[in-house]
Amino acid sequence: MRKAIAAVVLVFILALTQGSFCQPNDRTEIRIPDIPGYLTLACDFHSHTVFSDGNVWPTIRPEEAWMEGLDALAITDHIEYLPHKDDIKINDFNRSFELARETAAQYRILLIRGAELTRDMPPGHFNAIFMQDANVLEKKDYKEAIKAAVDQGAFVFWNHPGWRQPGTVPVWHPEHTELLDNGWMHGMEIVNDREYYPKAFEWCLEKNITIIGNSDVHDPIHMAWDFQSGEHRPMTLVFATEKTEKALKEALFAGRTAVYNGKYLLGRDKYLRPIFEASVQVNSYQDKPTEINVQLQNSSCVPFELRSAGKIENVSFPEKLTLHAGKTVLSKVKLEEKKPSPKEIVLPYVVENLLIAPDKGLPVQLKVTPTTQK
Ligand code: ZN
Repeated sequence: MRKAIAAVVLVFILALTQGSFCQPNDRTEIRIPDIPGYLTLACDFHSHTVFSDGNVWPTIRPEEAWMEGLDALAITDHIEYLPHKDDIKINDFNRSFELARETAAQYRILLIRGAELTRDMPPGHFNAIFMQDANVLEKKDYKEAIKAAVDQGAFVFWNHPGWRQPGTVPVWHPEHTELLDNGWMHGMEIVNDREYYPKAFEWCLEKNITIIGNSDVHDPIHMAWDFQSGEHRPMTLVFATEKTEKALKEALFAGRTAVYNGKYLLGRDKYLRPIFEASVQVNSYQDKPTEINVQLQNSSCVPFELRSAGKIENVSFPEKLTLHAGKTVLSKVKLEEKKPSPKEIVLPYVVENLLIAPDKGLPVQLKVTPTTQK
């Protein structure tokens, strides 16, 4: 008995000294594959701390980002809205970034300096990231503030364009044309928190604006998103040559992004297609002359919801197919009797939750080869 107690005490002491009682939660990796030539980086470019209207200390943000599988994070406290200023001294808009820096480095999270310009519509709220000094945004005139940030090489994007607009539908004002024409608006949030703005998605495609999606989190992240039920914060996927701040910035200016929101990926065909192709493997084999077994493996964390987009003579295949995240499904393709088997069958589908425009799913072709191999 005494030995048993001693063993328990030893385990307890070991656990304490090894720190296993105070380890943060494990990191949940985001399983969205890299695409040819680029790494896929999961990023959130919009978050708040007690240094504006958020409810967490800055060091918490990179820890949360790490646990949720992110690669990069920007803390973007408001310049003009500081409800905690009577309790927390705020005389430097770089302070939240400086405080979080060491923790971010420890977790290998790329921490990007940022701030949020907070003006009534028009022009609304804008985030500037990658400048060297966030204090340059503290200007009376919003144009002067944006210009000062751009002069420091900042990437500037329009935040939640449909927020507080009737039906959350964004309205484009002449001020936005001016910002875009001046080269002072590089991106736009098409998703912010729980809101999605199809109109903003359309503008990004039409006007060649970088597509962005962010959490805009104010509370601790687990109070805003229910991870236990499989939720994740909305995030921007950036296709960068490497995981560095320089490469991230280059990719954002080049428009190499997509948005991961709920079960949806939103972005240009040229980025969503390689993600689908790298995620899905098709294996087919034939046991009967009139039936082909098709195993479809989806190695990503995004479920793919497919709907057939055409008919093939003498061949019948499922109207709807869901390729669950991280699973393999078995599906069957039926061939008409007495007809010779074709060498290859190309099944036309649309992936309904990979949106390449507001109402347009990604068209894909699944190639099925009838064979006797098992
Ligand atoms: Zn914000």
